[in-house]
Amino acid sequence: MRYPEAVWQAEIELNGDVPWSDEEPLTGVQWNELLPLTGTDVDIIHATHQFAFAPPLRNDTVAVFDEQPDFTRNLKDSPDELSRERIRMAVNAYLDDADAPLKSYNDFVTFSKRGLLEEELDAALSHQPSREWHLSIDDAHRLAPAIARAIHHAEPRSNGRRVGTATYTPQAPLGSSNSGLNADQEVTVVFDDEDTLQTVRVVPDMSQAHVVLGLDAFPTEPLWELNTGVSFDLNSLLKPLERILWRRREKQLRVVQVGSNANHCTHGIGNTEKERALVEEIRDRHGSDFSTAITSKAAEDTLKQMMEDAGVDNPTILTFGEQNSRNVLGDEDVGLVVGCIDMGDGPVLDRLAELGLDAQPIRTSTDCFVCDGNGCRQCNHTGKKRAKGRGFVGPDARVAERICDSVRRDEVKQAISRYGRNPTDSTDSATVYVHTNVIRPSLLLDDDGEGVDIHADTKSNVIAFARDRDETTTKEVWDNTSASRKYTTEVLNELVEKGFATLRKKEPYGTHVYTVSSDTPSDHFVDLG
Ligand SMILES: [Zn+2]
Repeated sequence: MRYPEAVWQAEIELNGDVPWSDEEPLTGVQWNELLPLTGTDVDIIHATHQFAFAPPLRNDTVAVFDEQPDFTRNLKDSPDELSRERIRMAVNAYLDDADAPLKSYNDFVTFSKRGLLEEELDAALSHQPSREWHLSIDDAHRLAPAIARAIHHAEPRSNGRRVGTATYTPQAPLGSSNSGLNADQEVTVVFDDEDTLQTVRVVPDMSQAHVVLGLDAFPTEPLWELNTGVSFDLNSLLKPLERILWRRREKQLRVVQVGSNANHCTHGIGNTEKERALVEEIRDRHGSDFSTAITSKAAEDTLKQMMEDAGVDNPTILTFGEQNSRNVLGDEDVGLVVGCIDMGDGPVLDRLAELGLDAQPIRTSTDCFVCDGNGCRQCNHTGKKRAKGRGFVGPDARVAERICDSVRRDEVKQAISRYGRNPTDSTDSATVYVHTNVIRPSLLLDDDGEGVDIHADTKSNVIAFARDRDETTTKEVWDNTSASRKYTTEVLNELVEKGFATLRKKEPYGTHVYTVSSDTPSDHFVDLG
């Protein structure tokens, strides 16, 4: 079925009934299309991660996940997501239907946390709403009973979090022959230290699959476990050296790290002067072969403008996150990956709590700049500023760092892998410049450059003066600029080292005479490796 038709049919179905598969409407419709196939002799069905919710595809099958699934529900307030407000309304509606002693979400959360009305609430929460409730009540939601139970059973965990889980068993559709299948889903809620719901995760119960296989070049096992309920044994298909060879020989992908900073760009590009110099240098070196880049959503517009200013017609920019679903860079010969994104400490602590683990971000002795030491959400109520880097302390600090890295490194890694040979053309190859240091050097790196060095005024003056002479000497330069003799010598020798100048000694005194190339940039150096 084509996408627009599927959407159209989903809309019709949703007007009259609960969606068949208990999943998102579109998946439900697509699943209906697949149903006849599951009764026949089909060896392999390729489907998106959402289809792990369809019982016949995961019970008594070999389930293979390509890449780690993420079944975290987006709590943002958009109409098609399960927002906090949507959850509040759904739980209210359910409490009402269950005739619970409390009718408001906020009271319910508070009473549950304090263990008040324990027995009465427990009794009410065993209520299973009827099919009519789902159809006739606007605020009804299929997950409401399980979410309410998970909230009620939430227990204290590390860093002031509370975590609760409950099982949700979807009702098979009327007249379905599949009612005997295990359709269970595990619903988990995580509250932060201010009682705000931060995570809702709904994971299909994979326990009746023959085998669950996960394919992942750099797996973060704790996150795999959270999203499948399975604890995996690790097995490598390729040894590290073989992987490097595959990338170089088969994919013909050359990866060059530029500079040695992480360059976080979750909120945009930090040093625009450097980034602009880098973009211009790549454009100079590769001309029209350079027209694509990958960066964060927040940095997208700035980077696009820089590329246009450097002369790139119609640059294509993908953003971390969307890159995986878009296969448009396979034919590109040159790529640029700018910076990395970071999930922030809060979500790392939420996931640690979910795993029952404990660690804290490393802090300095300086007061938090948001709360002046009084304690706030930003500093996890410690009153102290976060230390540089993304380090953690505590018994499970390494796991915390791996979770943190899973976003930083994985997005960059995925971005790099978007480039590389078009499989149908054996002569095709690509070079990707990566302007961040969060890649795994041993596995991914072929070359590195020092990056971008923006010069202070004195240095610019020395270079500009020397460049504009046919020949010059150290003495002539320091006589005409504000630089010291020692500094002038250093700068001129650096120009020679970088190939921008030549040096000869003029007899009888051995005077150093420099010839600086006319295209030497005076305000910055870029070393692309
Ligand atoms: Zn603070």
